[in-house]
Amino acid sequence: MDIDFGALPSPCYIVDERLLVKNLEILDSVQKRTDCNILLALKGFAMHEVFPLVGQYLKGVTASSLHEARLGYEKMGKEVHAYAPAYVDREFDELLGYVDHIVFNSFHQWKKYKDKVQAVPGKKIEVGIRINPQYSEGRTPIYDPCYAHSRLGVTLDQFRGDELDGVDGLHFHTLCQQNSDTLERTVAVVEEKFGEHLKKLKWLNMGGGHHITREDYDVDRLVRVINRLKETYGFQVYLEPGEAVALNTGFMVATVEDIIYNGMDIAILDTSAACHMPDVLEMPYRPEIIGAGEPQQYPHTYRLGGLTCLAGDVIGDYSFPKPLERGDKLVFTDMAIYSMVKTNMFNGVNLPAIATFNEANGIKVVREFGYQDYASRLS
Ligand SMILES: *Cc1c(COP(=O)(O)O)cnc(C)c1O
Repeated sequence: MDIDFGALPSPCYIVDERLLVKNLEILDSVQKRTDCNILLALKGFAMHEVFPLVGQYLKGVTASSLHEARLGYEKMGKEVHAYAPAYVDREFDELLGYVDHIVFNSFHQWKKYKDKVQAVPGKKIEVGIRINPQYSEGRTPIYDPCYAHSRLGVTLDQFRGDELDGVDGLHFHTLCQQNSDTLERTVAVVEEKFGEHLKKLKWLNMGGGHHITREDYDVDRLVRVINRLKETYGFQVYLEPGEAVALNTGFMVATVEDIIYNGMDIAILDTSAACHMPDVLEMPYRPEIIGAGEPQQYPHTYRLGGLTCLAGDVIGDYSFPKPLERGDKLVFTDMAIYSMVKTNMFNGVNLPAIATFNEANGIKVVREFGYQDYASRLS
């Protein structure tokens, strides 16, 4: 059954649960073949309507803030792991109520909060230190936690092997949209630099950035890497992908509101790169549209622009087999990850509705937004 995109409000994100389940089954196959634990990183995908479904496959969530931790705790109710570059005093006690694992970014932070972590009644919170192995294959500094002077993780020369009492695990996150060969080379560096400490650990958390559900991802190699680590060191392994969980499972429907001409044809949509797909401008990247191609690939090329007054609120140039008309719907692909979690109401532009699709219930619009959402963030 195909989704009737025309039946949705516009603009609207929609996640196809059939595609989400496909991804979750791939991730679960890694868990089954290695007995590792996989968590959803909420930074990339936090659509809590589908948390019950995600929770049927994954062990829980990983959070980088108090609010993410609370969302995972309340809406999924499985394990909650936390990491942040720094924890702030006024939030720390509440955070401890939600988490099962907490990872610190420095030995100073660990020392500062050690007594509080160990005094939580009724549960033992596992503690980790994030390391920076100073090895990454990313080329874009904004997405490379190992660039020079990065604030993320403890480098080997700052590592205090004699202050690990009470520390259960180590954490590294150095990948971004990468395959398991990159992981394998990264693990070799981690072993070379931090090897003497690994045998003492209960677990190693290898962060996110594993593009496990991408077509060309080498799952067998990932399984080999994890199984070898577990055999060598006897610890548990955690992965915490965000992208890989909801990769290619979401769409965004938008409408052509007007078509103008300024040296080329320009279509104005009821969406916005700046508000609804900020990574198009930040990353930057070019989202795909169903039925459209590169400029000039089809006979009719348009620049697609958004509703804000920002001059650069442009999604990109696309060509179509037929001329666009006002009222036409366009369907952007791969709009689940790093989109809903990054929207904003700049210029007062409303947020897209959020919907799900599954075989049993068809389309379900779970949330629409309005003036109150805009006004409540300001005063
Ligand atoms: C962003 C992030 C993730 C998830 O990364 P993806 O690229 O979405 O898989 C996991 N762990 C940490 C610490 C992160 O910062």
